[in-house]
Amino acid sequence: MKLRPRPQWGTIPRAPDAYGRSALGIPLEVWRPAGPCALLLFAAIHGEEPETAFALSRALRQLAEPSPHCAVVLAANPDGVIRGTRGNARGVDLNRNFPTDDWQAQPVAHRSTLEDPQDVLLSPGAGPGSEPETKALIGLVKDLKPRTVIALHAPLACIDDANESPLGRWLAQQTGMPLVKGVGYATPGSFGTWGAEQKLAVITYEFPLATTDALVRTHVPILVRLLTDPAAGGAR
Ligand SMILES: [Zn+2]
Repeated sequence: MKLRPRPQWGTIPRAPDAYGRSALGIPLEVWRPAGPCALLLFAAIHGEEPETAFALSRALRQLAEPSPHCAVVLAANPDGVIRGTRGNARGVDLNRNFPTDDWQAQPVAHRSTLEDPQDVLLSPGAGPGSEPETKALIGLVKDLKPRTVIALHAPLACIDDANESPLGRWLAQQTGMPLVKGVGYATPGSFGTWGAEQKLAVITYEFPLATTDALVRTHVPILVRLLTDPAAGGAR
């Protein structure tokens, strides 16, 4: 696919569809592919990881035409992005709110920084799938029926793919990051756990701790390959 010339990289060329609204009433946006959706890429389900939305946007802005096969969600948690919080506007960690068999009601602990203990508490929601952003993302997956979903997170610097799929191995090779089968702690109610229960292939692409400039140089070209080349990774 032809890419847009650099002077045009400042803007997103096409309008998205709304697939729902956040708790604050902000549209949840998806850029749909030209053809059947083989891959859904979403970023910023954690509002404290805005670099994932930024990098995915930089990749999307290079495309001269819609992706042939990829749907793109730049911010699965827009309330968290504008408020700078990991959770949504109601203080819920959306990645612990999915209706999984192992969903837990107790608070979710996370790290303030990589050096800190997991001692900052968030709610997993009033019940499984209680949040509008969670319900909307489930609805979007059921609508698009992607073969694979890639969830962008930061800053654990790994490719987490329980299936060790060809696409997961390709991402590990392209990024130079390790391919792992889990992040080392339980994630009840996470999108990945929900996807596994739905027999949906989910890969978690964890950016490293890096400046946005470094992420653009290393990871945006890989995201552009994913968006433009249906054969990238050999999975499709
Ligand atoms: Zn995250």
